[in-house]
Amino acid sequence: MAELQYVIVGGGLAAASAIEGIRELDREGEITVLAAERELPYHRPPLSKGFLAGREPVEAVKVHKAAWYRENRVRLRLGQTARSVHLGKQSVTLESGERAPYDRLLVATGSQARRLGAPGVDTPGVLYLRTLQDSFAVKGAIKPGTKVIAVGGGFIGMEVAATARQLGADVTVLEAGPTLYRGFADPSLSTFFQRLLEGKGIAVRTATRAARFRAQDGKLAAVVADTGEQIPADVAVVGVGAEPNVEWLATSGFSIERGGVIVNVRLETAGTNVWAAGDIARFPDPVTRQPRRLEHWDNALAQGKLAGRNMAGAEEPYTHQSAYFSDLFDVTINVLGDTDGPDAVEIRGSTEVEAPNFTALFVRSFKLVGAVMVNPNTVDRSKEFDQLQQHVAAGTIPDS
Ligand SMILES: Cc1cc2nc3c(=O)[nH]c(=O)nc-3n(C[C@H](O)[C@H](O)[C@H](O)COP(=O)(O)OP(=O)(O)OC[C@H]3O[C@@H](n4cnc5c(N)ncnc54)[C@H](O)[C@@H]3O)c2cc1C
Repeated sequence: MAELQYVIVGGGLAAASAIEGIRELDREGEITVLAAERELPYHRPPLSKGFLAGREPVEAVKVHKAAWYRENRVRLRLGQTARSVHLGKQSVTLESGERAPYDRLLVATGSQARRLGAPGVDTPGVLYLRTLQDSFAVKGAIKPGTKVIAVGGGFIGMEVAATARQLGADVTVLEAGPTLYRGFADPSLSTFFQRLLEGKGIAVRTATRAARFRAQDGKLAAVVADTGEQIPADVAVVGVGAEPNVEWLATSGFSIERGGVIVNVRLETAGTNVWAAGDIARFPDPVTRQPRRLEHWDNALAQGKLAGRNMAGAEEPYTHQSAYFSDLFDVTINVLGDTDGPDAVEIRGSTEVEAPNFTALFVRSFKLVGAVMVNPNTVDRSKEFDQLQQHVAAGTIPDS
């Protein structure tokens, strides 16, 4: 039988994991990766944490070294952006007009940073953080004493704020909503994070929108809030969410809903021989059974791997329970299951910011649907994490 032609569009973690999945079952097929960025696939979490802080070298963020792709006979075509897919002809068209035929295709084009429409957003000193190059730019701009404003109080904003503070910057977080990270849907958790940041000397301004960026001498001088107040700034890092990269698929015949490419339980799209994985996939969540799209490292890792295996013929369902992690100073946060719209949130343990060690249990219809674990990074709660995953899967509330 002729060797299968696998084409992977993307070049992030889901793409790299898919190669591993394919090679577990098929050593012979030809694998081509079409990746818009000119970097080997890399991990994004360190871009706002260890790499940004200067604790991790650039080599450490790469998923694999260049030799790994050679050993696995992967044709990595970096700097190649896909423009469309022709499902009938089974080919991908690149920006250059070139066509890349496939037998099996993976769509893994991830997300990009959501842009802010505020006047002055193009001023030098106003930065986004999605790519390795963005992280180099943010890193280069932050020095001890630099006035940094994190625009957006979600995880990226909080992480940038914490890292910038560790680098000695004078940091303010601006959040348009009433609390930090509304994804928790629980004010007491948001309050905890606000106290954590404030305890380290970060100014947190909720219910404050960045309305305008004011320049002086060609560079950022202040962020103007919707209240009219001017907050002096050398650097503003905008972290107001991400948008999945689906525009290039708009005319290709895929089912796209709320920004995600719809896949079934085997991560197959509506197109024959086409799978999707990672930030871009809207998949049936194994726990809630509801369609869900996640922007999580762990999700890209697990889905990429399974999509790769299924492209090579495995036909396995996606049963992995995704989780999200973050680090703020020396505190580790793990988010499991679904924390959207709970009926009740029960916090067990200490929310003392100096030494937090607690779990927030998210309950909906008397079932455990999600949990948030917070503790110093020196504390190992992996056993409890596994048990909580089981409770979330079963919907049972652990004994107190
Ligand atoms: C700063 C930062 C910190 C994060 N921290 C955490 C964390 O602590 N915990 C956590 O769980 N998650 C975190 N995440 C999220 C996590 O990194 C993402 O969920 C993960 O990277 C998704 O992987 P992916 O492969 O699906 O997509 P991506 O990593 O977005 O990769 C997709 C790639 O496809 C390329 N591409 C797009 N369009 C095309 C095209 N048309 N043709 C060719 N290539 C294309 C893109 O350029 C990109 O390189 C963080 C993200 C960022 C940005």
